[in-house]
Amino acid sequence: MNERRENPGHILIVGGGTAGWMTAITLAHAWHALGTKITLIESDAIGIIGVGEGSTPKMRRFFQKLGIADKDWMPQCNGTYKCGIRFPGWSTRPGYESYYHPFFSMSDDPFIRAFYQNMTLRQRSLEAHALPDTFFLSNYLAKHARAPLPTPAANYLADYAYHFDARLIGDLLKQKSLALGVHHLVDTITTVRQTEQGDLSGVETTHHGLVEADFFVDCSGFSSLLIGKALAVPFKSYKDFLFNDRAVAMPTPHADPAVLRSETLSSAMKFGWAWKIPLTNRVGNGYVYSSDHLDEESAERELRAHLKLPADDHTEARHLKMRVGRLERTWEKNCLAVGLAQGFIEPLEATALMIVQDTVENFIERYQEAGFTPTGRAAFNSKINLIFDSVKDYVYLHYKLNTRQDTAYWVAARANPHLSSSVAEILDVWDNGGDLLTEINRQSEHMSYSPTSWFCILAGMGRFPRKPPRKPRRDIPVIDPAGPRQSCLEMLKHFPDHRTVVDDMRANALGL
Ligand SMILES: Cc1cc2nc3c(=O)[nH]c(=O)nc-3n(C[C@H](O)[C@H](O)[C@H](O)COP(=O)(O)OP(=O)(O)OC[C@H]3O[C@@H](n4cnc5c(N)ncnc54)[C@H](O)[C@@H]3O)c2cc1C
Repeated sequence: MNERRENPGHILIVGGGTAGWMTAITLAHAWHALGTKITLIESDAIGIIGVGEGSTPKMRRFFQKLGIADKDWMPQCNGTYKCGIRFPGWSTRPGYESYYHPFFSMSDDPFIRAFYQNMTLRQRSLEAHALPDTFFLSNYLAKHARAPLPTPAANYLADYAYHFDARLIGDLLKQKSLALGVHHLVDTITTVRQTEQGDLSGVETTHHGLVEADFFVDCSGFSSLLIGKALAVPFKSYKDFLFNDRAVAMPTPHADPAVLRSETLSSAMKFGWAWKIPLTNRVGNGYVYSSDHLDEESAERELRAHLKLPADDHTEARHLKMRVGRLERTWEKNCLAVGLAQGFIEPLEATALMIVQDTVENFIERYQEAGFTPTGRAAFNSKINLIFDSVKDYVYLHYKLNTRQDTAYWVAARANPHLSSSVAEILDVWDNGGDLLTEINRQSEHMSYSPTSWFCILAGMGRFPRKPPRKPRRDIPVIDPAGPRQSCLEMLKHFPDHRTVVDDMRANALGL
């Protein structure tokens, strides 16, 4: 693969989970016209993980780039809108027992400035309302079950993400990939073939024999069949930073189908946290926890109690293991890894599919720029590693900032001596009343989250000086929270009811 090529030749994608089909459609969209042949192989004996129902606003860009409108995919995937994530129970500090991580846009700038102002005062031990929720329209949209689709009169640009059924979105992307010319094989790979130089050359399958290709994409999930097993790229565990390695998932019906909240709820539990994701037809629930602190049976029991399921309820629970960490190199020889095969950060901020997109988009750019040769592979690998590590840092901070005392799990998470230099510097500047914006901008080259997200988590969890705040001098402007609250509530009238929007979309799609 050293000579300059006209096109990437035959690409074989191994795995038909969300990562496999997202990769297939993105590559087909980018390189279809070059005559690139793309084949996706998946095993019906192994199946897909079938969880992963939350996303980040990057997913919106994914569909936009492919030219697929919300109405053309959401009804098929029981999709709903997501305005942000709410975190109840992570902090016990009075006034900060729950906080909201909003999605925001340039339209939020005046409110963000107001939030910064109060937060800075509070950080300097002065009395000021600094809970981010108050200042972000997105919080009110989520709470009042609105869709983030303003009428033109609102003069507001909302950013948002989605919730969807993990299996249905795979089916949808499959149909669209096949329409773009992607070949599909259902078979199980038994052996991976390599050349004498160590490149991959093909895969032996149960029914189709040897399938050869020029380039391979490993989307085989946690088994990491090509890059982990055949190419033996080392895996860097995040276990020291993130304790959770198990999950138990259980769907429930909507308590009140008429009210469709447009947010993910991530509630702290005794040994981890529980997600609640509203889809059009049901609610996705799950408990992410640490097997060092809790066994499967107790986790399921705690989740059932959290969901208030009656004793005679027989909803089936799915127990899952999570391999948390990342590969040392995502692109090795003639193989790229995407999805769970490349790594996974526990799903607290629903970032896995965002990293899938980042990986595939960056790969296309680098590979294409270098004339479809591996030049730039090292730079690509460093970039993907930075994305992984920076998302890990942000997720880690949720645990580091917790103030719960109820179990050894939370105490250990707070006292965790492992922290990256990036997080150490952020906490140092913040705790000493320094200029965090400058510090975050200094680190911006290797940051996945914006300064506002960092401020929201630090202020939202009430990480302020312990001594009681003083009254500010009269000439110091403090924002009265009633102002932004009132303005946001006023804005709500320009946003439609979430349930009505998704039901209308479905009715239109079905031609009702
Ligand atoms: C508890 C939990 C919650 C999550 N929540 C979120 C979330 O909210 N948001 C988010 O973005 N992500 C989330 N994720 C991650 C998300 O589920 C995955 O990133 C996503 O589903 C992609 O998975 P995948 O395609 O990499 O792997 P899989 O879905 O596991 O697919 C693997 C594929 O490889 C194939 N395969 C494996 N071995 C062979 C073989 N020998 N021969 C042929 N084919 C083979 C399988 O048949 C399958 O098609 C979550 C993950 C977990 C564990």
